[in-house]
Amino acid sequence: YYRCSSSSDSSDSVISSESGNTYYRVVLIGEHGVGKSTLASIFAGVPDTLDSEMLRENTYERTLMVDGESATLILIDMWENKSQDNWIQDHCMQVGDAYLIVYSITDRASFEKASELRIQLRRARQTEDIPIILVGNKSDLVRCREVSISEGRACAVVFDCKFIETSAAVQHNVKELFEGIVRQVRLRRDSKEK
Ligand code: GDP
Ligand code: MG
Repeated sequence: YYRCSSSSDSSDSVISSESGNTYYRVVLIGEHGVGKSTLASIFAGVPDTLDSEMLRENTYERTLMVDGESATLILIDMWENKSQDNWIQDHCMQVGDAYLIVYSITDRASFEKASELRIQLRRARQTEDIPIILVGNKSDLVRCREVSISEGRACAVVFDCKFIETSAAVQHNVKELFEGIVRQVRLRRDSKEK
């Protein structure tokens, strides 16, 4: 569905990297229950198709073709963890080439948490212009909406990032989300090259 390279065995990725394929580490962050893992599982695809490769627990790799150019995303869904100290979250804040800050449109507290996370990220990576997409998930739950689209959009303006509403449940805008983050990373890469 997302992958457009010719084969999915592991030797393929070596060939791809030799031919200039690029790898981006994309980190999912956000409040518990907003749909991060559901988005990750859609990205990963059905396991038995071997379309995606689970690298480690909660880390998924997939190659997508975006605007005629392939990109391999390493999607990291380990923000929520059972360890007592915060080292995994600190680690997550450091390792991403790009971030998806996810909230649920049905949960205002998760929207407020997104702002906190934006500030935390800015603090952790002060000098860097990191691509971020603010993701309002669960857009299928129209009757339970607590955060309007315009609030989400306005927040993204303040965050200086992109905005999208998705539904992992009905798979609306999920493909667009992952393509979007590839475009955001490329935009910054291209402007650096000039
Ligand atoms: P996480 O804690 O952020 O990883 O959230 P999960 O992916 O575990 O999702 C939490 C719950 O919300 C699960 O019961 C999901 O089935 C549900 N969920 C996730 N995304 C959506 C969505 O887009 N729409 C609806 N209706 N439910 C969703
Ligand atoms: Mg989860």
